[in-house]
Amino acid sequence: MLDTLRRIVQEVNSAPDLPGALTLIVQRVKQAMHVDVCSVYLTDGDNRQYVLMATDGYNLAAVGRVRIDFCHGLVGEVARREEPLNLDEAAAHPAYVYTDEIGEEPYHGFLGVPIIQHRKVLGVLVVRQQQRRRFAEAEETFLVTLAAQLAGAITHAEASGEITRLLADSSEARYALKGLSGVPGAAVGRARVVYPLANLDAIPDRPVSDIEAEIASFRAAVASVERDMRQMSARMVDSLPAEDIALFDALILMLRSENLVDRTIDGIRAGNWAPGALRDTIAEHVQAFERMEDPYLRERASDVRDLGRRILEHLQSTRPAAVEYYPRTILVGEDVSASQLAEVPPGRLAGVVSAHGSAASHVAILARALGIPAVMGVDDLPVGRLEGQQLVVDGYEGRVFVKPSRAIREEFERLEHEESELAQGLRELADLPAETPDGHRVPLYANTGLLTDITPSLRSGAEGVGLYRTEVPFLIRDRFPGEEEQRRIYRQVLEAFAPAPVTVRTLDVGGDKMLSYFPVVEDNPFLGWRGIRITLDHPEIFLTQLRAILRAGAGLDNLRLLLPMIGSVGEIDDTLGLIHRACDELQDEGEDVRFPPVGVMVEVPSAVYQVEAMARRVDFFSIGSNDLTQYLLAVDRNNASVAQLYDALHPAVLRAIRQVVDDAHAQGKAVSVCGEMAGDPGAALLLLGMGVDSLSMSAASLPRVKWVIRSFNLAQAQALLDEVQTLEDPATIRTLLNRTLEQGGLGGLVHAGR
Ligand code: PEP
Ligand code: MG
Repeated sequence: MLDTLRRIVQEVNSAPDLPGALTLIVQRVKQAMHVDVCSVYLTDGDNRQYVLMATDGYNLAAVGRVRIDFCHGLVGEVARREEPLNLDEAAAHPAYVYTDEIGEEPYHGFLGVPIIQHRKVLGVLVVRQQQRRRFAEAEETFLVTLAAQLAGAITHAEASGEITRLLADSSEARYALKGLSGVPGAAVGRARVVYPLANLDAIPDRPVSDIEAEIASFRAAVASVERDMRQMSARMVDSLPAEDIALFDALILMLRSENLVDRTIDGIRAGNWAPGALRDTIAEHVQAFERMEDPYLRERASDVRDLGRRILEHLQSTRPAAVEYYPRTILVGEDVSASQLAEVPPGRLAGVVSAHGSAASHVAILARALGIPAVMGVDDLPVGRLEGQQLVVDGYEGRVFVKPSRAIREEFERLEHEESELAQGLRELADLPAETPDGHRVPLYANTGLLTDITPSLRSGAEGVGLYRTEVPFLIRDRFPGEEEQRRIYRQVLEAFAPAPVTVRTLDVGGDKMLSYFPVVEDNPFLGWRGIRITLDHPEIFLTQLRAILRAGAGLDNLRLLLPMIGSVGEIDDTLGLIHRACDELQDEGEDVRFPPVGVMVEVPSAVYQVEAMARRVDFFSIGSNDLTQYLLAVDRNNASVAQLYDALHPAVLRAIRQVVDDAHAQGKAVSVCGEMAGDPGAALLLLGMGVDSLSMSAASLPRVKWVIRSFNLAQAQALLDEVQTLEDPATIRTLLNRTLEQGGLGGLVHAGR
């Protein structure tokens, strides 16, 4: 059964479109399970119905016509219960409803399984038997496994609009790809697909203008790979037996095969660029090998993949790396990185859509800093087919509309316009103090990382920088920046804000912030070599940075240093030792540097419980709620599958923050919050109630939070906090915060929270 399953899955995956995949499934399942009928029903959410979309056994004329209302009949029952229903006599079930159109009468046995993706029922897969038949457990799991595979194909089809067309929805296209809200906001623009090098699966289609030149560069790439193969084979000839060396010859033959070369050239002639045409050819070959019965030949699929990757590498090495961007670029990719975002010229970036990641990913944080809407964690994002397409990014709801209808586009353009009007209105608050009506001051600082952030931060009315992420300049380079290069970058930020304070965080790479030129391969990067752990292990890198930071602050007197990922006091002691060393060395060299105030990020749970000991060593604390939430809740901040569990309003996170504030204040030390929750209007109100001394956030969030602070008395925030502390789950807390904002006349900010 396992073999059959694998084969069906492969066939379905290579079907040209959804109807093809559905037809294949119903035919293969009917054969494999020896049933009389197999059918697929798809969910039509707009009409609250399940539509018969494919059948082998029932009347084919019923396809697309038979519609079963939600919660109706056995199909509705399977969908409602979200679990398989296995009946030897269908008609005996209370939910059974006879459907004349499909010719259902003679059937007794029934097995239906829901097709589910991310908790959403996309349809129902059903088999029927004329005789009474109770299906075996193995048959049930077989169908459940196929339904799970089908869910992926259906999600793809939803993206391309196929489902809408199939469901013959007469009204406008309302289909959307579902993801997570990364940065709230709306954007309309054109997709520019970005992809990592040498990854064939991530290559998008792209139109080609000079077909002959494209073919020539493809042929040259193939020739280069052949040359590489010959060299490899020659190098190995003494150390490998002849039959293994023959493998290289087989690969060379494959490279020369008309199949591979001509098919790709056909693809180029059809208008696709060489990498896109190559991707298709390699995929066809891989599937052909994977379908083979002979296990040895099946294994050759990986050789084909390897050949494809090698040809691609050569193609990419001869192409100019520079990417052109549309005036309103929506950056799209499997895993859009912070550096890919930073490469888009300012003013051209309108939105971000990423198949992986969540609102807490660094690319989303950067997007927020720039005020760019983002949708993250869009499963089954058809990146290969999106290049140049018009997209609507709905960062509020976490949706992406591909080739939107005019009505949808206009609706989102209107939203975009309204949002910028609100921002404009809020900007007028820039010169007013962040002070509650009863006179309590909570300075608001900006989070920055890019030099392009400086102007928006200054304009937003930030009273300084509460978190300067120094890793950003490292991320957008292809080597470690030198001491003088770093000094110049840091100096620009320190000078722009002087005499206001600038809190410079030392290098925090690792986790999801990998430097291409300093690769770290780990099973659990977020629990691994990250932040201070790396810099303490590499004093040469750390000292260079410390010297650059100290020199950048010379004569300005506004520098503060912040240490990331501190989990124990030993790390603080070691770091203070290095700062002293850098400072002493510079003073000996005659530089006008001073030992700055030093603070610790509280973002590792162990730090929450050591505030007292840490307070004896440092001057201030800054709570990194992004990581603190991730580590306290054991929820990877980048994993879209568990993103619904990631919530800084979780009672455990709120309690930890309150404890840090109380313990630090008991030692006379100030506490700031610099994670994303500081920029969430509702959460900021709670932090105000806790007595947090300052908040640091993206410039785009700052005016909203200032509006909140200026609208509520400290006593109101404290009363709200007391009430929140009686609540036990994040959703109820969010509801209460939203209600409070609405009652305070700030309903317009409800969307801005996550
Ligand atoms: C945090 O973890 O909350 C934080 C501010 O640091 P980063 O998001 O850069 O990890
Ligand atoms: Mg952090």
